[in-house]
Amino acid sequence: MNKRELSQQLPDLASVSFQDLTAFAEGLGLPPYRARQIRRWIDARGATSFEEMTDLPKALREGLGARARIFTPPVLREDAAPDGTRKFLVQLEDGLTIESVLIPDKDRLTLCLSTQVGCPVNCSFCLTGRMGLVRNLASAEIVGQVRSVRARTPRRISNIVLMGMGEPLLNFENAADALRRLTDPRGFGFSSRRITLSTAGIVPGIERLGREGPPVNLAVSLNATTDGIRDRMIPINRKWPIGRLLAALRAYPLPPRRRITIEYVLLGGENDTDEDARRLAALLKGLRCKVNLIPFNPFPGSSHRIPDRKRVERFQRILTESRYSAFIRESRGKEIRAACGQLWAEEKKSGAS
Ligand code: SF4
Repeated sequence: MNKRELSQQLPDLASVSFQDLTAFAEGLGLPPYRARQIRRWIDARGATSFEEMTDLPKALREGLGARARIFTPPVLREDAAPDGTRKFLVQLEDGLTIESVLIPDKDRLTLCLSTQVGCPVNCSFCLTGRMGLVRNLASAEIVGQVRSVRARTPRRISNIVLMGMGEPLLNFENAADALRRLTDPRGFGFSSRRITLSTAGIVPGIERLGREGPPVNLAVSLNATTDGIRDRMIPINRKWPIGRLLAALRAYPLPPRRRITIEYVLLGGENDTDEDARRLAALLKGLRCKVNLIPFNPFPGSSHRIPDRKRVERFQRILTESRYSAFIRESRGKEIRAACGQLWAEEKKSGAS
């Protein structure tokens, strides 16, 4: 066994739960506050080695280095677009790769995380959907993306969205555990108000998230106003049709002053008519929500069309006239294939994972 393989046998303290980290520290005869210090160094301060943990005695740092390790998923490739969006191909310990995307705005820096390798949902407008599910990410692999990307940006990441590869509510335990770790004040310390989980509409998962929390923001990819069209766009609609989904959203225990984000990908000539906009306004009646209109971002082999700009603006106007907050969200970083899954697919073609 070589040195690298030997070191992989050691426990990875970035991956273990706080409970297991405390037990590990206790096993070394250390008081519980040492576990808190180590977790803070890894999650809050971005340490990638024990030597960096300068408030631990030197002998302890050396002892930890001999008995444990800190795995930080490497970034295999990074692409930047003129609009500032940066896309990262992150490698997991088993060699598989996922994507994370950093999206800067004036007052915020949002990191979009993957929750699965591939995705089983197979939305017609998404390249990741074509790959099928390879495997779920462990919670440490979900938060590991924050650690990997954070080291590559001087700006503080202010917001997190679970909107990359995968459907988070089909990997509920790991996604919820990752959210708890991201909001843990002993570690990453993100406010739950600054984290959004985006789902294609897994009704039992929405209900469970409502019951068990944590109370992060919820975004739902609705994308159609009739079951016929939505069945074609998001096949899980056959199981949880629009009526069922909206009933679950109406019952969702939204914290005060928060709104559900309704995402609506506009496909030219398919779901972008005036009637669609009016039906959408009627469907959302009484729901505390805002609407994000996302003009389709094409990828090689996709059969959908980019919607006409005037259509997009007209769609928005109908919604605002019905007193909804409706925003047009441009697909960020088109130049770097920011549509979900494109970088991954390219690397896959060239044999990187
Ligand atoms: S849009 Fe999201 S849920 Fe749909 S296939 Fe892509 S990754 Fe999966």
